[in-house]
Amino acid sequence: MKLVLASNNAGKLAELQSLFAPLGFVLVRQGELGIPEAEEPHPTFIENALAKARHAARHAKGAAIADDSGLCVDALGGAPGVRSARYAEDHGHAKGDTSNNRVLLEKLSAFPGASQRSARFVCALVAVRSADDPQPLVAMGRWAGVIWPAPRGESGFGYDPLLYILELQQTVAELSPADKNERSHRGLAAREMLRQMREVWGLG
Ligand code: IMP
Repeated sequence: MKLVLASNNAGKLAELQSLFAPLGFVLVRQGELGIPEAEEPHPTFIENALAKARHAARHAKGAAIADDSGLCVDALGGAPGVRSARYAEDHGHAKGDTSNNRVLLEKLSAFPGASQRSARFVCALVAVRSADDPQPLVAMGRWAGVIWPAPRGESGFGYDPLLYILELQQTVAELSPADKNERSHRGLAAREMLRQMREVWGLG
């Protein structure tokens, strides 16, 4: 079964594709169907995920799933948060993961101690059967760590090289894709979403 993914982020697609494989879903990026990006004007992940899922479902005339996610750093009052993808741009720098990571480290230079650098990845998943589905499925996941003083590791995407997981003594970018999916904010949310899809949508 095809499910439209309300995102064009290749990193998210790869992770979600493997997480949703148990239900036999093939995720199709909305860009491949000519669906434009939705606005993400809301202050919370959950509101943005719902807006993106509805937007994709309206254009695709069918079921869609959205992932709104990001990194929340306690010392920065939860920033970059819902602005994670555009953090560097918001501060007048070039767009992109490397630039986002550099800006984050600059902002945290006033907070050198590990105890001052607590942070977590947050993922909100919303799935709808149609744009006006009155029962959207909602699942959240969180993954806590501290921001390492410099990027470490080559795997993953986004802020993975900066979130250091204390119990693993590695950054997320030092984990294999399978190890990340087993523990991550997205993995937790996806397994909860699969459970709801089985229960409410009667799948699998
Ligand atoms: P969105 O497309 O508006 O949900 O923005 C997601 C952004 O949050 C990405 O571009 C990354 O910067 C960040 N992000 C979300 N999930 C992850 C992850 O699993 N690892 C690293 N960064 C992530």
